[in-house]
Amino acid sequence: MGNTRSSEHSGIDWLAKGPLAPHIDAYMLYLGNRDYEATTFSNYLGSVSHFAQWIHSRRLRLQSIDEALVAKFLDKHLPRCRCSGPVQRDRRTLSAALGHRLARWHDYAAPHQGPP
Ligand SMILES: [Zn+2]
Repeated sequence: MGNTRSSEHSGIDWLAKGPLAPHIDAYMLYLGNRDYEATTFSNYLGSVSHFAQWIHSRRLRLQSIDEALVAKFLDKHLPRCRCSGPVQRDRRTLSAALGHRLARWHDYAAPHQGPP
């Protein structure tokens, strides 16, 4: 199983250096635990990478990520997307990927709350 993924492939830089970078490992682990096919896996990463690029371009904070923001991304940004690089633009894939991501993101993004 050759790993032929090149460094230029689907904006991996955004995963490594983008605003979501601190959480990408956890997200990949999360996907890995779900036995997705390699294609799905890489589509999902491409989606998060695209989202990261958008978050960065709008200077949004991780804490402001919620379902409304994802909806905005899908409804407002996607139709007029001019992001650089080979970004994932399939709405269904993006929606699925970011939905999964959101499901876990709040755990990471939530401030640590100790016992009262
Ligand atoms: Zn875009």
